[in-house]
Amino acid sequence: MKEDPSYSDLVSVITPESSNPSLADLRIPTAAGAFLQKHAASVWPYKLVAWMLERLLDTNENGALNFNLQTNTAVTHLQKSSDGSWIVHTPRGMIAAKKVLLTTNAYTSHLLPEFSDLIVPVRGEMSSLIPPPTMKPGNDENPPFEISYGFIGNGRQNRHQDDYLIQRPYSKDNSTGGELMFGGGRSYAAKAGLGVSDDSSIDEPSAEYLRREITVVVDIKSEEKELKASYEWSGIMGYSRDDRPWVGELTEELGLGGGKGLFVCAGFTGHGMPNTCLSGKAAVDLMLGKKSEEVDLPESYCLSKERLVKARVLDEVHIVDAKG
Ligand SMILES: Cc1cc2nc3c(=O)[nH]c(=O)nc-3n(C[C@H](O)[C@H](O)[C@H](O)COP(=O)(O)OP(=O)(O)OC[C@H]3O[C@@H](n4cnc5c(N)ncnc54)[C@H](O)[C@@H]3O)c2cc1C
Repeated sequence: MKEDPSYSDLVSVITPESSNPSLADLRIPTAAGAFLQKHAASVWPYKLVAWMLERLLDTNENGALNFNLQTNTAVTHLQKSSDGSWIVHTPRGMIAAKKVLLTTNAYTSHLLPEFSDLIVPVRGEMSSLIPPPTMKPGNDENPPFEISYGFIGNGRQNRHQDDYLIQRPYSKDNSTGGELMFGGGRSYAAKAGLGVSDDSSIDEPSAEYLRREITVVVDIKSEEKELKASYEWSGIMGYSRDDRPWVGELTEELGLGGGKGLFVCAGFTGHGMPNTCLSGKAAVDLMLGKKSEEVDLPESYCLSKERLVKARVLDEVHIVDAKG
């Protein structure tokens, strides 16, 4: 805030002494304090991505082949061909292209092992919890949330291991919806999820933490000590060694196993979604030939020898995470 005072106008600091709103008004009476940010948004990412893919597939009408989507098709390795193009190998065949963009996030080191210490897979846990029956639109005693939450350092978690909560809207007749989308609890997971790249199962200790802790961290007037989950799942994040995504062309001089024509846009750490869209746009601008100074991308996201050297002097991802 000292460095850019314009941010101060966007955020209010709420202490236990604050009123209007107080911590109780924000329905977090046990919190040590809060930052209240008025400008926020939430989105259902699967729906957004499915909508984008459907629109792109629609451009294939009348026999045009503008967009080719191959789902469930893992790239097994990349090969540089003698004419300078890249051959992308998959179990269903190969494809050659002059330019290839890796948006492989946590899995980047599978194709480029040189990224192993720069982007580390970390498993996160997520749940969709059924709200208490009294929490309904129109019930002034226990209305649905109008705000979303990020909880930093709750319980035995350190500052790096945050929880987050967004409530889904209710259906028009209030009979369905309202699920509390609560994620986190990573310090309860085996090895805090670090190095885990398999999301085919949930992490039960983290899942249990989420089902129970929701009744403690927010005032939802739950008579039960644990909420029921309609869904629970895990996913893999790509934690970046210097906390910034890696965006740009993997030229040979970087020594990251790439070469001219191979681009990357990956390493979005925890809350990556606010960063992915414009980083992806910047990566495509670079692929289309724009110079880096013409592209809207923070310098700290760009690939360079200097950044690599600086990043590799920093603590490794698991140490940073443990230190908080
Ligand atoms: C449980 C959980 C909760 C989260 N909650 C939030 C949140 O509330 N807010 C927020 O901003 N962010 C959140 N994130 C982080 C957010 O999901 C990521 O930052 C974001 O999805 C990164 O986008 P991406 O496209 O770069 O990578 P990803 O969404 O990770 O996509 C990478 C894709 O590449 C594919 N892939 C990888 N390797 C290969 C290969 N060899 N061949 C073919 N395909 C491959 C993968 O299958 C995957 O589909 C959460 C993450 C998790 C796991």
